[in-house]
Amino acid sequence: MLYSLRNAPFMSKLCYAFCGLNVFAIALFFVVMCCESPKHIPSEILLPALCLAAVAGIALGLYLSYRAEFSSLYAIFISPYYVGVLPILMGGSIAAFAFLLAGRPDVRWFAFNTNAFCMLLTIAMGMLLEARALGLLEGRNRWREEIDKYKNKCLSTKIWKGLEVDYIPGISDDFDFWFKNFNLDYLIGSVHLVENNEQLWFIDGPAEGYDDGLKNIFGNDMHLAVKSFYNQTCEMIESQKFDILGHCDKVLMHNRNRFITFDDEFYLRFLKETLMLAKEKNVIVEINTRGIYRKLHNDYYPGKYIFKFLKENAIRVIMSADGHKNDQINLGFEQLQNDLLLSGIHETWLPECMCKNPIPLIQA
Ligand SMILES: [Zn+2]
Repeated sequence: MLYSLRNAPFMSKLCYAFCGLNVFAIALFFVVMCCESPKHIPSEILLPALCLAAVAGIALGLYLSYRAEFSSLYAIFISPYYVGVLPILMGGSIAAFAFLLAGRPDVRWFAFNTNAFCMLLTIAMGMLLEARALGLLEGRNRWREEIDKYKNKCLSTKIWKGLEVDYIPGISDDFDFWFKNFNLDYLIGSVHLVENNEQLWFIDGPAEGYDDGLKNIFGNDMHLAVKSFYNQTCEMIESQKFDILGHCDKVLMHNRNRFITFDDEFYLRFLKETLMLAKEKNVIVEINTRGIYRKLHNDYYPGKYIFKFLKENAIRVIMSADGHKNDQINLGFEQLQNDLLLSGIHETWLPECMCKNPIPLIQA
């Protein structure tokens, strides 16, 4: 997944801001230490500064408790450490600065050194524990081990390991990298970020980002945007090895009939060419229900408008809920099953590692 500060959640940005603030504060300390400073600091500046420091420390602590959701080790050790210690540290830092300005060098040195030492220790400990939680120190991968554990435990249910991988020309890793390094059974290849003139249009995020990207990257030319999306998808099918084509008309997600309609000839030509290429390369086409149950889209990805074409060309399909939580794994399947049957599609397929034969669909 592409990750940059620009795309980071607000709390992450805040965390980065605090880190920057710490570095700045320490640098400022050195400067003031080396120069002659004013002897007195008024309490109307000192008190608000102390309050601000405490608030900043608490906000950082809150961010880290939010992070704890993703790592139990974080929750046990690091979160209370940060929440408890950081407000004191940041308060201490400002207090030391105040003492320095008030001309009490012994206290300022003690406060500054303690603060700097603890701050470094906190950061180093956080990084070490996070790396340990992720299994990086032992060169392990926790999520993979977790799946393997249940794979061996639940003998009544078969479990396979797969990943949905993004294809961004010149940026994303070759799909073989994931197969080799993660010992996977299958891969879903998808496009979420459409490249044009070295800029990326994120089609899977909030609607405002979709509209902004269309305007700034494609000059509101929806035909060019659609063409770029399908060219990138075809390039992925041609150049990468994977089992399932993910949500192949997601470019329409926030379109909502505003910029293009699904019966637009130009649009349909690209979609159909992509589907035929998937068939030729033995890639199964995913019919994805996520847009419907999340109320982000009024149809499947790809929508019912293309089911007839899928049927006529015997293109193999698989039902997918694109679940991000375990209670979403098969959401919308009953309706999808009925819609596929209505279009004359009577079977679905699974990646070859699971089953080589089609799975017959039954009216729900
Ligand atoms: Zn996706």
